[in-house]
This record gives sequence, C-alpha cells and structure tokens, in this order.
Amino acid sequence: MAEFTLELNDDQKQVRDWLHGFAADVIRPAASEWDEREETPWPVIQEAAKVGIYSLDFYAQQFFDPTGLGIPMAMEELFWGDAGIALSIVGTGLAAVGVLANGTEEQIGTWIPQMYGDADDVKVAAFCSSEPDAGSDVASMRTRAVYDQAKDEWVLNGTKTWATNGGIANVHVVVAVVDPELGSKGHASFIVPPNTPGLSQGQKFKKHGIRASHTAEVVLEDVRVPGHCLLGGKDKLDQRLARARERAATGGERVKNAAMATFEASRPAVGAMAVGTARAAYEVALDYAKTRTQFGRPIIDNQGIAFQLADMRTRIDAARLLVWRASWMATTGKPFESAEGSMSKLYASETAKKVTAQAVQILGGNGFTREYPVERMHRDAAIYTIFEGTSEIQRLVIARTLSGMPIR
Ligand SMILES: Cc1cc2nc3c(=O)[nH]c(=O)nc-3n(C[C@H](O)[C@H](O)[C@H](O)COP(=O)(O)OP(=O)(O)OC[C@H]3O[C@@H](n4cnc5c(N)ncnc54)[C@H](O)[C@@H]3O)c2cc1C
Repeated sequence: MAEFTLELNDDQKQVRDWLHGFAADVIRPAASEWDEREETPWPVIQEAAKVGIYSLDFYAQQFFDPTGLGIPMAMEELFWGDAGIALSIVGTGLAAVGVLANGTEEQIGTWIPQMYGDADDVKVAAFCSSEPDAGSDVASMRTRAVYDQAKDEWVLNGTKTWATNGGIANVHVVVAVVDPELGSKGHASFIVPPNTPGLSQGQKFKKHGIRASHTAEVVLEDVRVPGHCLLGGKDKLDQRLARARERAATGGERVKNAAMATFEASRPAVGAMAVGTARAAYEVALDYAKTRTQFGRPIIDNQGIAFQLADMRTRIDAARLLVWRASWMATTGKPFESAEGSMSKLYASETAKKVTAQAVQILGGNGFTREYPVERMHRDAAIYTIFEGTSEIQRLVIARTLSGMPIR
C-alpha cells in the first residue's frame, strides 16, 4: 500500500495533464453550445471514447490507483472543463459502480461493456434510484420488483425520476422494493437490458444547470427481466433478506448500513467535481480581476476584490484536501468514523456554489451574461448541494455519525 503523500507521482501528473488537455481543448470549447442545446453531447462523448477517457478501463485504472487520488484528480479536471459535458461523460460510471458494487463477476463482464459501447457506437447507462416521493428518503421507495418463479423472471413496476441518462441509456440499473416490510433493507438492484419492453422515458427535465446532461423520468410498466438480472443473484438476496427479517423480528443489533458505507466512499468523487467547477470559475475571475481596469487601476488592486480571490482560492484548496483525504481513506480501507466522505462532499459543494457566485460578482455585468462562462458555472454549481445527498442530508449524516444520536 502506497504511503500517503500530497505530491502526485509522475504517472498521476501525466494523466492529470492529459485530462486537462482534453478538458481545455475539447470540453471547454463545446460547453456553451451544449448548455444552450440542452442535449447529450454525443460527439464529445465519442471523442472521449476515442482517446480512452470514456471507458471502463480508464475508470478502473483511476479507481485502483493505490493512493486513492486517481478518481478525484480525473473528476476535477473533467469538471473543470464543463460540468454538464463532464457529467455526460462520467454519468455511465454511476450505473457501472452499481454493478461493480453488487454484481457477480459474470454480471460485471456481461453488462458493463454494454453500458459504454465502443468508440464507433458509444452507449450510456443510467442508475435509477430516486422517485417522485423518495428523494432523500430512500426508504419510502415504491417501485416494486416481484419474482415470477415459474418463468424465473422479475417483474418491475413504478416510476423513477431524476435519472441521469434515464430513457436514453442502453442499460438501466433500477433499484426496487422486493420486501416492503423491510424498508431500505428490502431493496435490490436490477439490470434492465437494452430494448426491454415496458421501460420508457417519461418527462425530460429542463434544468437550471448541467444542461448538457440528460435527466429524465423512467417509467416501468410490467418490465420483465430474466432472473440473472438481479444484481448479486437470488441466493445472496434471500440470505440478506432472511438476516434482515430476523433482526426485525428479534430487534437484534443493527449492522452497519452497507449502502451508507458505499456513499461515504463515493461522495468524495462528487466533491471533486465541485472542486473542478469552483477552480474553473476562480481562474476566470482571477484573470478578469487582473485585466479589468476601473478608476485607473486593475480591479484586483482593491482589497475588496483581492481578498475575495484569496478566500476563494483558500476554500478551493481546503475542499480539495478534504476530498483527497476521504478518497485516500476509502482506498486504504480506513473507517469513516467522522463521516469524512460526507464532510468532503458538503464542503466542496458549498464551496462551488459560493466561489462561482463570487466569480459572477467579480466579473460585474459581464459575469451576468452568457458571453462569459462564470454565469454557466454558477448555474452548474447548484447541483452539487443537491444530488448524491443534499447538503442537509450530509449534515445529518455527519451529525449522527459524530454524536451517535438519531438526529432528525
Ligand atoms: C440533475 C440531477 C441528476 C440526478 N441524477 C440522479 C441519478 O442519476 N439517479 C438517481 O437515482 N437520482 C438522481 N438524482 C436525484 C437526487 O439524488 C435527488 O434529487 C436528491 O437526493 C434529493 O431528493 P429530492 O430532489 O427528492 O429532494 P427532497 O428529498 O424532497 O428534499 C427537499 C429539501 O428538503 C431537505 N430535506 C429532506 N429531508 C430532510 C431532513 N431529514 N432534514 C433536513 N432537510 C431535509 C433537502 O435537503 C432539500 O433541501 C438527480 C437529481 C438531479 C437534480
């Protein structure tokens, strides 16, 4: 296991510079167009696939970086380019992680390649958990999966919402209730293979930011999937449900929630996206402040502007350190005793919102127009305090973890 260091090694620097080049040369120049079009930027995803950035191999390499810094570094650079396009590039990873975390080796080998397609025919995947009445409160999920033993098929019914790539995905990963008595312990994840009858796209949302990323409802009407599409397999599910029922019946001690542990490990990646957006806006603001002249001097000559930039940069660096710490902890198997994963996401996402707002202010009227990218970055940053657990939910998780109290 590599020792923790804040200095990137030569390989990491090379990957970072390569990603930065792609973000600067391909993503950033396309950002405004796809934001206006509010469509999935297929040509950019294809370009990313051609150079090897849109592929499972690439994410696996970053994921298995023994320092833990591969994923946050990659996310920061891609989202520095543009958040909407970058989410279109990494959104498939959400579904892929769902399969990697819960699937058998066979399921991983069968479905993940179909999530990405190949450079000549790129595909995307969607992870569908949220529902109209089950956002933060995942336990109130209603989408049902019922086993049809005679046919060895699962039948899925319900409506999912806010699904990134929902309806346009080749492969959908759907979380559904298999035992309503067990709350979130009675959930399981299913693969819905390409072109399965009964799955359709509902409303496509018109959004405030990250508009190049497709977000939509997914409607499931008597969707039948083969038994082998249950992630992890039926035996494992039956064992897990039996344990949960026994605990519910005996009031036995709660085991540590595996989903919470997964979130702690995945949230720093969202924090890193936020750091990328914040850094992008800060850089534009710094350049502008050095060149924009008012009252006969660059506006950065005023402490009111210079100190804001000092604060922006300090917050960004602090956010990155929290993200790197949490990613390092996840990779090296350190327990998140103080919810450090949630801390990193909370701080980085709020940093992105604050810093992008400051950048708009520093650019004055220009900051308010679509001629300059900070307006878009400010809209994009608003997502980070909402998805993958809102800021309020992060605070709840941190407070409960620190206190051991059932804070509501
Ligand atoms: C662009 C976008 C992409 C997304 N992508 C996906 C995806 O790919 N797959 C997927 O499954 N989901 C996805 N989501 C869903 C996202 O994770 C949810 O929006 C999020 O979890 C919040 O749920 P909600 O919108 O229902 O808000 P609600 O849960 O209704 O929350 C509303 C407000 O109440 C607050 N609140 C709720 N409960 C508490 C509490 N106990 N204490 C204090 N405050 C509370 C929240 O913090 C928030 O401010 C996406 C969402 C968006 C907007």
